Amino acid sequence: MRAETAPLGSRITDELRLIPRWSIVCALATFVAAQYYFWVFLPAVRHASSHIPALLHLYLTTSLGALLALYFLMIGYITKDAPRRGMNVRMWMICVVIPGGIGAVLYFLLRQPLLATCPSCGMSVESEYHYCPQCSYQLSGCCGRCFASTRITDLYCTRCGHDLASDHPPERLQAFASK
Ligand SMILES: [Zn+2]
Ligand SMILES: [Zn+2]
Repeated sequence: MRAETAPLGSRITDELRLIPRWSIVCALATFVAAQYYFWVFLPAVRHASSHIPALLHLYLTTSLGALLALYFLMIGYITKDAPRRGMNVRMWMICVVIPGGIGAVLYFLLRQPLLATCPSCGMSVESEYHYCPQCSYQLSGCCGRCFASTRITDLYCTRCGHDLASDHPPERLQAFASK
């Protein structure tokens, strides 16, 4: 629920904050190593200047370095993202690392919704649930007519216009407690 209502900018910042420091360090080191390989090591071994124009060479080496760096950032992100979705980190790491990019694409296609904890019974629930499946505690606001998700400040359903106060939602889900 929280993720749905937060503005896009802060949602992206929150996601980026998940990336652990070690993977940022690895990404930077990889980028630097790639530049060293292409600009210092390779020309020294070949003893001849390449036929590629300098600008194209710069473009290719920078984008390749960035791609490798991005790969480390993604691995770092997945190690933090998988547990909060109740997914097996070790299994997904093997999938993402071994077959190159395909495992990572699969991860983002198949990843489970974020998990939250029911404040009433402590059960792990998906964060977009309206009610806890174990104890029926209301976890987030929803319209009493069409059951669309509602925000805490909404007075009327954004989908069907239903008067949300007439549902008598619990006070903790209302910004303006009914008089
Ligand atoms: Zn519960
Ligand atoms: Zn509605």
